[in-house]
Amino acid sequence: MSKAKRAFEIFISLSILSLIVTIVFALLIVEKVGDNHTNTIVTAVFAGAFLLFVSVAMAVMMTHSYFKCSCCNMEFKGRPFQVLVSMHSPSKRLVDCPHCGNRCWCEHEIK
Ligand SMILES: [Zn+2]
Repeated sequence: MSKAKRAFEIFISLSILSLIVTIVFALLIVEKVGDNHTNTIVTAVFAGAFLLFVSVAMAVMMTHSYFKCSCCNMEFKGRPFQVLVSMHSPSKRLVDCPHCGNRCWCEHEIK
């Protein structure tokens, strides 16, 4: 596994953990369980951590994405903004191929 893919998976995992902690402590605030001041600080810190980890993961994905066109079988590096906003399934994205010019569902890989 490449360094970029490993980094992406680590930061996505950290962001999911941060989101879970944020939700749990936000619920503690709503339900008025424990010290409200502490719960508020923990919620804010982990919400910030979530945004940071998601941003890093998206930056890695935007800069290290490669595609294999399903129309012409050529490989190409994705344009960062297109990688971010394109429709996708877990392994494919609908992107414009620079070789054949078609918009195809292309195999997506972070390398
Ligand atoms: Zn193509």
